[in-house]
Amino acid sequence: MEIIVCVKQVPDTTEVKIDPQTNTLIRQGVPSIVNPFDKNALEEALKLREKHGGRVTVISMGPPQAKDALKECIALGADEAILMSDRAFGGADTLATSRTLAAGIKKIGNFDVIICGKQAIDGDTAQVGPEIAEHLGIAQITYVSKLEITDGAVCAEREHEEGYEVIETKLPVLLSVVKSINEPRHPSIKGTMKANRKEIPVWTAADVAINPEQIGLKGSPTQVRRIFTPQQRVQGEIIQEDTARASVTRLLTKLNQAKII
Ligand SMILES: Cc1cc2nc3c(=O)[nH]c(=O)nc-3n(C[C@H](O)[C@H](O)[C@H](O)COP(=O)(O)OP(=O)(O)OC[C@H]3O[C@@H](n4cnc5c(N)ncnc54)[C@H](O)[C@@H]3O)c2cc1C
Repeated sequence: MEIIVCVKQVPDTTEVKIDPQTNTLIRQGVPSIVNPFDKNALEEALKLREKHGGRVTVISMGPPQAKDALKECIALGADEAILMSDRAFGGADTLATSRTLAAGIKKIGNFDVIICGKQAIDGDTAQVGPEIAEHLGIAQITYVSKLEITDGAVCAEREHEEGYEVIETKLPVLLSVVKSINEPRHPSIKGTMKANRKEIPVWTAADVAINPEQIGLKGSPTQVRRIFTPQQRVQGEIIQEDTARASVTRLLTKLNQAKII
């Protein structure tokens, strides 16, 4: 089974701070990590390979330092890794990002399953996976929490607010996975040594069949008008008197005083 995992390197958001002057993210000195949901995607790919055989290839679009994220994936057990990196890819919105990744996936060639995280913890749009499936013209199942592949078909549980749906489709398919699908493994010493030795090929725009007008900032119809930090909400007050009647009376008095009622 040929499995491709899309992996994004993201800033560790627990460390991110906002510049109060410019209201932009301070990225300097912020450690980068593999997007946590993409680790679940890789874990699921490794489990599929253990069951069905085959190969796991990870692909990322990003700056040269995204190689570190790919090396971590090799240490975790991926067979191959490809970095798509070019100044021309810079400023990409989700449409340009997904077009670029789809072009990279076409260049890889054969695939049965593509696995993405449900979303990236920085951009948070959850658009890239479904868009890749559209560009490739294949089926997709998003928010997958459980999956089984038999006889060229996938049966997946898809999480939503009120429970889950069970969806079945033929391969090839793109899946986006949620955190509860598995517990990602830790890298082995052997894997880390392999990752240290591994050469990661870098593909530029010239290496894939893609229209230069459709990548990076030029190929991005989304325009960011303004970035701002949302105002902090004032802490709520819990009114708890001895009886429900007393609590309601106090609440009404407060609402009255604030001229809300
Ligand atoms: C106008 C505009 C300009 C932008 N300019 C920049 C910029 O200059 N630099 C910048 O870093 N961001 C930029 N962005 C943000 C960029 O659009 C997103 O980071 C990117 O498209 C992915 O979207 P997301 O983070 O919401 O991913 P999601 O859609 O939430 O990601 C879902 C899944 O898709 C896969 N995936 C997503 N992105 C990648 C990737 N790059 N490689 C491999 N797999 C991936 C992963 O499996 C991930 O779990 C810009 C956005 C806009 C709108």
